[in-house]
Amino acid sequence: MDAKLKETLKAFAKGSGKLCVLTGAGISAESGIPTFRGPEGYWTVGSKVYHPQEMATHHMFVRHPEAVWQWYLYRLGVCRKAAPNPGHRAIAQLEALFADRFTLITQNVDGLHLRAGNSPERTYQVHGNIFFMRCAMACTQAPFPMPQEVPLKEKDDPLTPEDLRLLRCPGCGGMARPHVLWFDETYNEAHYRFFSSLKAARETDLLITVGTSGATNLPNQVVSEALRRGAVMVDVNVEENPFGRAALSSSRGFFLKGKSGVVLPEMVELFRMGL
Ligand SMILES: [Zn+2]
Repeated sequence: MDAKLKETLKAFAKGSGKLCVLTGAGISAESGIPTFRGPEGYWTVGSKVYHPQEMATHHMFVRHPEAVWQWYLYRLGVCRKAAPNPGHRAIAQLEALFADRFTLITQNVDGLHLRAGNSPERTYQVHGNIFFMRCAMACTQAPFPMPQEVPLKEKDDPLTPEDLRLLRCPGCGGMARPHVLWFDETYNEAHYRFFSSLKAARETDLLITVGTSGATNLPNQVVSEALRRGAVMVDVNVEENPFGRAALSSSRGFFLKGKSGVVLPEMVELFRMGL
């Protein structure tokens, strides 16, 4: 880590500016969770193999709700078995250090940030949370926790009538759906904190992006808005990527190539030295 960045982090901690952290799949990959955009996410329904970008759609849920649920319960099992890593814990420490100065925006649906200790109030899960579901008919907007009795599924386990009984809306008794943003749906405030995320980006003095490369629209807006407002940006990623380049294109930006589980704890120490 270069001297200029070390001084920047210590000086930030001393001040009263706001910190926004934006995370993507890279941080959870260090906990063994695949992106599900690759082979892990391919799924056979009948005689046809579907890509993740086809499975994670409202279109698919309307046609094959049980297949979509089976796919999500398999992914849920992977997420339940995973544990937060040092990168997640470092981000929880940042919230503990900075409190109201801190906001976390995450593209991950695996719930690992909350399990690491970040608060639901300051964690904007802009793609939802796989441990929650909500009414498929929208009789209420509220998400509710997946019942504990919902079993973990391996790839070949079919849904049982008991599973289907658990996957119902407690309000109207109709089918529930996963509380996640699908590819053919749009961001909104009520479910995904869309406007709150843009506001956090506008108000932040320091933006740290971790393990994300801007494949989706809201993260891109967060980065461009923060840079436009003159925020300092630090990108942490195991590989060069568009956000790293965006950071380096700014006179106040930094790119740290490495694992978030290694780099973020080092950053926490520097912040602590400045406090
Ligand atoms: Zn309902």
